[in-house]
Amino acid sequence: MINLKSKGEIELLREANILVSRTLAEVGKNIKEGVSTLDLDKLAEEFIRDNGAIPAFKGYGDFPGTLCTSVNDVVVHGIPSPKKVLSQGDIVSIDCGTIKNGFYGDSAYTFTVGEIAESVSALLRATKEALFEGIRSAKVGNRIGDVSYAVQSYCEARGYTVVREMVGHGIGRHLHEEPQVPNYGRRGTGPKIVDGMVFCIEPMINLGARQIKFDDDGWTCRTRDGKPSAHFELCIAIVEGKADILSTFSFIEEAGL
Ligand code: MG
Ligand code: MG
Repeated sequence: MINLKSKGEIELLREANILVSRTLAEVGKNIKEGVSTLDLDKLAEEFIRDNGAIPAFKGYGDFPGTLCTSVNDVVVHGIPSPKKVLSQGDIVSIDCGTIKNGFYGDSAYTFTVGEIAESVSALLRATKEALFEGIRSAKVGNRIGDVSYAVQSYCEARGYTVVREMVGHGIGRHLHEEPQVPNYGRRGTGPKIVDGMVFCIEPMINLGARQIKFDDDGWTCRTRDGKPSAHFELCIAIVEGKADILSTFSFIEEAGL
């Protein structure tokens, strides 16, 4: 069942998502060579708690971190570690969740460490743009499959591949609600998009093949071929027929990242 949100609930979801967006920018400002992913995790947790919220991922399942920190060939769900130290040329997807006033925020951004290869830079641009293609398709009159198709076709037309095992999702008083929002699919399929829906769109796009594997920790998800993967996520509400974007990359952009 898809749980539709009232205008008031959407405003509470916006608060939780703005805090995620600000946290991503704080983390981004501290991303540089020599910093460990656990360093980033600690500052994110402190920032979220200082702002009167709870880190949503910590203790979700048995996930130990405030952030998922996914470096290079890690697609998603990388566990923050003092041993994972960032180097020049790395990319790192930072995925963050908050709980504020009982509602969840969830967004992700893939940052760069110093100069990166042009092919990887192009992958990041395409993944972010695919997210916005998905958002443009998220409107009344369309179905979730139209969003999925928009993301998939944009990426595959550029020679990239779409991870299928993990998907976007509805969000509200729970981190993961219906509907599922796959990054691949057919136009005109899936649930109808209606006012009051709130969901996250989060393309996970690979430079090489789409196949993935999991580390022994049960969380870390990598590309099978070891090539880089990018991940961007925003949370949207459907209001008056179209997407009202509840989280934002504007704090990251304002910081010049
Ligand atoms: Mg998500
Ligand atoms: Mg996320």
